[in-house]
Amino acid sequence: MSFDKADQKVNLSPRVVHDVPGLRAIVSEWRRNGDAVALVPTMGALHAGHISLVEEAKRHARRVVMSIFVNPAQFAPHEDFNAYPRTLQADVEKFAAAGGDLVFAPDMEAMYRQGFSASVSIGGPALAGLEDRFRPTHFAGVALVVAKLFNQVQSDVAVFGEKDFQQLKVISRMAADLDFATRIVGAPIIREADGLALSSRNVYLSADERLRAPSLYKVLCQCAQDIKGGVPLATAIEAACGASRAAGFVIDYLEARDCETLAPIETIEAARIRLLVAAKLGRTRLIDNIAVGDFE
Ligand code: AMP
Repeated sequence: MSFDKADQKVNLSPRVVHDVPGLRAIVSEWRRNGDAVALVPTMGALHAGHISLVEEAKRHARRVVMSIFVNPAQFAPHEDFNAYPRTLQADVEKFAAAGGDLVFAPDMEAMYRQGFSASVSIGGPALAGLEDRFRPTHFAGVALVVAKLFNQVQSDVAVFGEKDFQQLKVISRMAADLDFATRIVGAPIIREADGLALSSRNVYLSADERLRAPSLYKVLCQCAQDIKGGVPLATAIEAACGASRAAGFVIDYLEARDCETLAPIETIEAARIRLLVAAKLGRTRLIDNIAVGDFE
């Protein structure tokens, strides 16, 4: 049930649909009423980071659809597809409390029906040499499911978190290159009070690892300050790698890249530099990033 009071919308129980015809029936009814529609794609296990995307979505559209789908195509065989947390009922309640309208939680059959054989081939930021070096099939899987979601929902806007910064660039590039009508909006990273970026995978951290995990963000902040303060880039990055290792991380990458193209940095222009890191703490792989320009 949802009801409107002036421009305030309180949504006590968003609808949940599991197939594309059900989704389309609802979205086209909204469209007939002239309502703009925003999509927030997720894999569920919602936390405050996801909810911030719903809040951003509401700034762009009257209706908000959240997709919840743990997409097998973006996991490599050795990754955590089976272990990934699945909490649909709690997710629906959190989404309702945030004022969302519709959860699209497609069945596997709705996404990858028998005989499915399409793929989306992407380059540019998908081959930047960051996540793609360690998860070589990941972005093809992300691009495939996001392209399907864009066609299924046909929203005016879709909101993605800067938490997955390379993913945001991959999707923006794909949407532009393939002329998707959906406009891509990025939203800032939501962190715990101690600086750890919220992630559904943080539940994998042991109590001891959870205490050490925020040092990754602190290392990034220090590195950004060093770069701003004139420390040579290579020296600042080397120091950051050393500090991360000392805190118990095994680093996949810790790099300074152009904030738009993700290309390696050639000239130091702090406002254009993004620091990106992926590192393992025990069996948990954490990713994070910051804009150097945000630091004094
Ligand atoms: P996921 O469910 O992990 O696939 O994430 C769904 C969306 O939420 C993606 O656009 C993520 O970038 C975004 N997201 C995840 N964690 C955060 C966070 N801590 N702050 C902001 N956005 C986030």
